[in-house]
Amino acid sequence: MASIGLLNPYLEPHQGLNATTVRKYDRELLNFSSYSYLGMTGEPRVREAAKQAIDTYGTSVSASRVVSGEIPLYASIERRLAEIYDVDDAVVTTSGYITNAATIGFLLGPKDIAVCDSLAHNSLIAGTRWAGCRRVNFRHNDPASLEAVLRMSRRTAGRALVVLEGHYSMEGDIPPLPELIEVARKYDCVIMVDEAHSFGVLGALGHGVRELYGLPGDAVDIWMGTLSKALGSCGGFLAGNRDLMMALKYAGPGVSMFTGGPAPAAIGAALAALDVLAAEPQRVQRLRENGETLWKLVTDSGFETGIAQGTPIVPVLLGGGGRAPLISAKLIEEGINVSAIVAPAVPDGEERLRFFATSEHTTDQLEAGVAALARVVHAIGG
Ligand code: PMP
Repeated sequence: MASIGLLNPYLEPHQGLNATTVRKYDRELLNFSSYSYLGMTGEPRVREAAKQAIDTYGTSVSASRVVSGEIPLYASIERRLAEIYDVDDAVVTTSGYITNAATIGFLLGPKDIAVCDSLAHNSLIAGTRWAGCRRVNFRHNDPASLEAVLRMSRRTAGRALVVLEGHYSMEGDIPPLPELIEVARKYDCVIMVDEAHSFGVLGALGHGVRELYGLPGDAVDIWMGTLSKALGSCGGFLAGNRDLMMALKYAGPGVSMFTGGPAPAAIGAALAALDVLAAEPQRVQRLRENGETLWKLVTDSGFETGIAQGTPIVPVLLGGGGRAPLISAKLIEEGINVSAIVAPAVPDGEERLRFFATSEHTTDQLEAGVAALARVVHAIGG
């Protein structure tokens, strides 16, 4: 980038909040690269709760949860998350990524099989490697493909885990969850759903893909999510039945064993964000409207958004050859911050700019972002 006189869009520190605007490269940019979907990262009540947690418990619990690291904040947030998912219990952890890797690594072994949506997140795939199990993919969001894969592979496997996401982070589409569940149950599979981009985003109350489809808590076995996106914090969570949660809490390496407990400030912040979410469901409504507006502006301008469905994740597909990082760098010069996603996060030739809408963007901001995109793409000839 430097050799052709462009700013490097990667690893550039920002000053202040990563919200609807962001300060980077010594300038104020309109921002579409924050997954603070509901504006929680700078929310005054969320900040205050983080400070209070530090005042009470310090900056670290200074031990793993099982041995001496437990604090009451963990049980409080776990109770809240279990209620939201209509299940017995939940577990909070230090990282969404590690939660996926560690949970699959803990539950499956070499005789078992993980049957993954072909676009499942890297952290879920890492879990299958950690487990040493067999992994097969089925065609993205396709119940018939899941059935075909299970028909061929289920009988020879011990346990089978079907691995899905509630809202796909690179595509901006939502799975046909009831149909996928029906197939998975027919073949006696355990089901895990990663709610990283659906919690706070889908459903009228922001309770995720379960709420969207009106499913009972036990429709799947493991609801996994992160605190780092809609909840404006950092860490992961799992929600499910009592025995499974207890097993993970007492004996899950990387979940609560052999790893320090989550930072008190992170849990304090996430708890306050849950309060704000409950008190102000209109944030979820605004987020949904902004996602639809952004997607419409992008498609009306003639850009390709693949299988996106007008949710708050709007990918602008740009082919290959480094066009996405080039356009991202040029957009910074236009005062717009939007991330370029390249391989290995997406397949070669499917580079994209990934726009995130948040509940806090104004329509003017959405329009300004898309107008700048059109100007830049037009200027470089595309
Ligand atoms: N799952 C999905 C689908 C994700 O997109 C991400 C991160 N972007 C994670 C898990 C990991 O979560 P975290 O960033 O909170 O570690």
